[in-house]
Amino acid sequence: MNGVTYMAGITYKCPSCGGYLTFDPEAQLWKCPFCDSEFEESGLTEKDEASAQKAAQPAADDGHSQLVYHCPSCGSEIMTDETTVATQCYYCHSPVVLQGKLTDEWLPDSVIPFTISKEQAVETFMNWVKSKKYVPKAFFNQAQIESMQGVYYPHFVTECEVEGQLSGEGRTVGVTETTREIITTTNHYHVVRGGRLRFKNIMRPALTKANRKLSDGIHPFPLNQAKPFANAYLSGFLAERRDIDESAIRPEIEQEVGQYVRPLLETDMPYQSTSLQTSASLKGMKSQYVLLPTWVLTYPNKKDPQDPYYYAMNGCTGEICGKLPIDISRLRRTSLIIFAAVFAIGCILSYFMF
Ligand SMILES: [Zn+2]
Ligand SMILES: [Zn+2]
Repeated sequence: MNGVTYMAGITYKCPSCGGYLTFDPEAQLWKCPFCDSEFEESGLTEKDEASAQKAAQPAADDGHSQLVYHCPSCGSEIMTDETTVATQCYYCHSPVVLQGKLTDEWLPDSVIPFTISKEQAVETFMNWVKSKKYVPKAFFNQAQIESMQGVYYPHFVTECEVEGQLSGEGRTVGVTETTREIITTTNHYHVVRGGRLRFKNIMRPALTKANRKLSDGIHPFPLNQAKPFANAYLSGFLAERRDIDESAIRPEIEQEVGQYVRPLLETDMPYQSTSLQTSASLKGMKSQYVLLPTWVLTYPNKKDPQDPYYYAMNGCTGEICGKLPIDISRLRRTSLIIFAAVFAIGCILSYFMF
């Protein structure tokens, strides 16, 4: 199929004035920026269930067909990436949740709502940049920092058990001396040990294009603040849907948890020497599909436009990850001053010495 399917996005309309509602991280409520009305969760999630049924019918993702959404506010066409599930209308800036992309198997189990507002995120980033030395002046650009966007990224939160087995030989050596001879006794023991380890809250990105360095750098997220998923939390933010299955993260999880088996089973061996083998098998792996709140900022890189600077900030804790560039000229100037100071001290010393 190569058809174009037209679908409706949802914008959560303000019941008081007809404007739109967005989720407010500080108040943990939905607010209308036009008339300042506030709304609690219950009414919005009910509406969510009603519209989810309507959206269930399209054969949305057979890979080739294109989905075009219409902005509920101005009717403009919204083109998006395959994995985008919440965005902003390019023309009228209304928040739009793209229905039909998060149903059935794509429906997240939960979402951790943002608790850091954009204003707080901008301030936190500014303070972070200020705390670093030799950062180019361009990084203090308020307008650039305000282009920061809140994105919900898909993750798997996994729990599993590992069954570990250890077997092999342990040896003890005893030496007895008599007047006529030295007797060395070696005892050989057959060693078998086993144990089960339980792991919880192993986090893995569920999006192929995720920048691992950045997304791993802002953990942990407060999983106790997770809410059962509702589209309404996405209003006012961008959101991505997962594009990999749990089976894709299994080898990596297996490898990670497997590392703990040997050191744990090998502790307190009462032998002088051993030759041991261990094996580990993963049992009962279960993953939750969770959307995590992240503030994302991009700076153009003048030297290499293909490689912009990316920053990610945890939308609950404010933890930032990303590498700031160093302004060589500022660094040189400082080094020069330090060099000059050392030289001056050197001169004074030599002055005193001779
Ligand atoms: Zn309103
Ligand atoms: Zn619009």
